[in-house]
Amino acid sequence: MKMKAAVLHSTPSELSIEEVNIKEPAPGEVRIKIAASGLCHTDWETMKGFQSQALPAVIGHEGAGIVESIGDGVTRLKPGDHVVCSWEPNCGHCFYCDNGQPILCEPMTKVRTKGLLYDENPRMFIGDKPVYHYSMVSSHAEYTVIPEQGAVPVREDFPLDRAALLGCAVMTGYGGAVYAGKIRPESSVAVVGCGAVGLSAIQGARLSGASTIIAIDINSDKLKVAADMGATHTFNSLDEEPSSFVKDLTAGRGVDCAIEAAGQNISIKHTLEISRPGARIVLLGKTPFGEEISLPFHLLMGDREIIRTSYGMSRPRIDFPKLANLYMNERLMLDEMISMRLKLEEINKGFEHLEQGKVARAIVVFD
Ligand SMILES: [Zn+2]
Ligand SMILES: [Zn+2]
Repeated sequence: MKMKAAVLHSTPSELSIEEVNIKEPAPGEVRIKIAASGLCHTDWETMKGFQSQALPAVIGHEGAGIVESIGDGVTRLKPGDHVVCSWEPNCGHCFYCDNGQPILCEPMTKVRTKGLLYDENPRMFIGDKPVYHYSMVSSHAEYTVIPEQGAVPVREDFPLDRAALLGCAVMTGYGGAVYAGKIRPESSVAVVGCGAVGLSAIQGARLSGASTIIAIDINSDKLKVAADMGATHTFNSLDEEPSSFVKDLTAGRGVDCAIEAAGQNISIKHTLEISRPGARIVLLGKTPFGEEISLPFHLLMGDREIIRTSYGMSRPRIDFPKLANLYMNERLMLDEMISMRLKLEEINKGFEHLEQGKVARAIVVFD
């Protein structure tokens, strides 16, 4: 079947909108008509060449849509189901899956880094040349073929453009706060970086009952959204270090849980500085590939737990339907997170805005 897709041919480069042939789903796979696809910082890193990726490829890993067809042996889904794509379609029976750490699934990691699906074959072609998959999602396209376990059904009254956000940013931030941060009622939390991941961490803190939630960013517009989403205090760190502001709010100690979602060495330093001895520190942001992070030892004095997680320690098949309910019950705010809606042809413009730090989330919406 022919479809339109945003193809990355080389790096560093923009995406080119082209006609791509997409095959039927193989056994255990589903083909999805994509409704919306979010632009994530990791896509941008791949376009810049900071991530290794087999090319040409259809990138995008934050998608939602409707199941169009299913391969043999698919039992959990049927055509017409509304789904959110997970970039963690874990096998369910390897060492890490059995160990309760599905994001580390070994067979998944092996094929994902090759840009393939589980049978190590591509499903997309331009002419007779293969087009590689991206994180087993490839959502910047009208259709995608993914493993059944990567298509997570959600309720049909949940709007699909907002559903797409669960696939990466929201799950990472919410899980970073709730599962990795283990935030307790009445605790104090600070979130450094208020893009879509940080805003989701703020909401995770609010839903966990934190009494003090401090949002820190260098962009005043993002701080306004952070306040709407549950931050009790906001601080612009463009001109001033946040340490004394945070300590004034926490009896001079620092916060119980500090979450980093900006991916800069300076923001990691700020995150350490504003955490109290004994705090939990969650690192969600990604520094530029290959860049070393520095942890000044004097900031580690006293016990501190530092946790790094890529997908918020999530289990998407359990978490996506839960997050959908939170949204539909007006507990989780997603509408405010979408700062830009684009057609597929405008996708490069969205990445320009992302690079300039102007948007919480830009998303491509399909007809
Ligand atoms: Zn992402
Ligand atoms: Zn596995």
